[in-house]
Amino acid sequence: MKMNYMVVLLSIFFLTVGTSFAKQTFSFDNTMTVRELAKANNFNTRKLIHELDEDLGLLSVKPDAIVEDIGLTKKQFKKIYLHMHEDLTPLVILGMSLWVIIAVFVIILLKKKKLTRIIRVILFLFVILFFGVFLHAKPCAMETMVKFFKATVGRESWHLKIIFLSFFTLFGVVASNLFCSIGCQIGVLQDLIFQLFRMKKIKHKKLPFWLTNGIRVLTFLMFLLFMYNILDGFKTCSLYHDVNIFKVYILSLTTIGLVTFISVILLSSIVYRPYCSLICPFGVWSWITSHLSILRIKIRHDECTQCGKCVEVCPNDAMKGILENKKIKSDCYLCGECLNQCPTKCIELK
Ligand code: SF4
Ligand code: SF4
Ligand code: SF4
Repeated sequence: MKMNYMVVLLSIFFLTVGTSFAKQTFSFDNTMTVRELAKANNFNTRKLIHELDEDLGLLSVKPDAIVEDIGLTKKQFKKIYLHMHEDLTPLVILGMSLWVIIAVFVIILLKKKKLTRIIRVILFLFVILFFGVFLHAKPCAMETMVKFFKATVGRESWHLKIIFLSFFTLFGVVASNLFCSIGCQIGVLQDLIFQLFRMKKIKHKKLPFWLTNGIRVLTFLMFLLFMYNILDGFKTCSLYHDVNIFKVYILSLTTIGLVTFISVILLSSIVYRPYCSLICPFGVWSWITSHLSILRIKIRHDECTQCGKCVEVCPNDAMKGILENKKIKSDCYLCGECLNQCPTKCIELK
């Protein structure tokens, strides 16, 4: 229990630090032109116009249009600012360091087979409050992935996307889906709901991996086809725009986003991480890299009695694939359930 208290105390400490840093400053004056507004906030004008179109439906805004004339309010701009703003501020660097500390902490516990449900729930709460609420879900793995591809068609700048995507990917190189497991603001929110219902002994459903992954990969391929204008019909780059539920942390969901968010929250009570398995583009990337991870859940097959307990406790099809030694496996989010439940203790993170 001592360890749990430590995590709670550390959480309170970092939340306090977070609150003091978390004030976002932005410039807004409704007598400015859109170009001046973009410049004052270090945004690319074309990108700001694109966001005004996507977020507020302000079509064909000209760079020299006056902010007041297009009807943009300070409140609306604040949401756009929070969505677009990206920087390596001291707070973001503190967040990135914290993610590394949490990851190391989780790996040590998994190695020792001591990652309990209660520790995960405490970590989840911390991640939701600190990385979600106080840092406004910035940086975000899903958005980084989308923006990385937008950068390939000149709609985003490169440097921060490369830094953040490499950072998130490195977690997955160390251990399968490590960032998604414990760091992602929406991933842990779904997991938290799932765990709370599991504690109440509510039965969950496992969706077939071929189906969920098929939908996830197909959506990603469609996104690429629209992005590179190979297919026409949707607004370029907007396939993930409305279903970006990370925007809940800046209270800026679109109607489709709100419906998606509510569905994800409700579904999470009986299905493990529906957004990760069905929609998220970073989920596709993380799933691919998980096949190359240094640390993965492994079974010492000579000691296994084939009792099937691990498959039963696994929240999705991951353990089934591991037990059957399949080449292509479902996402293992390192929940640690199988490690703790195997009667012969022949499962390990190795
Ligand atoms: S797959 Fe899930 S956990 Fe990973 S980045 Fe996407 S939403 Fe977050
Ligand atoms: S729980 Fe352990 S012993 Fe049982 S099937 Fe899984 S790995 Fe084998
Ligand atoms: S129970 Fe499943 S998801 Fe959890 S660590 Fe084991 S294989 Fe991974």
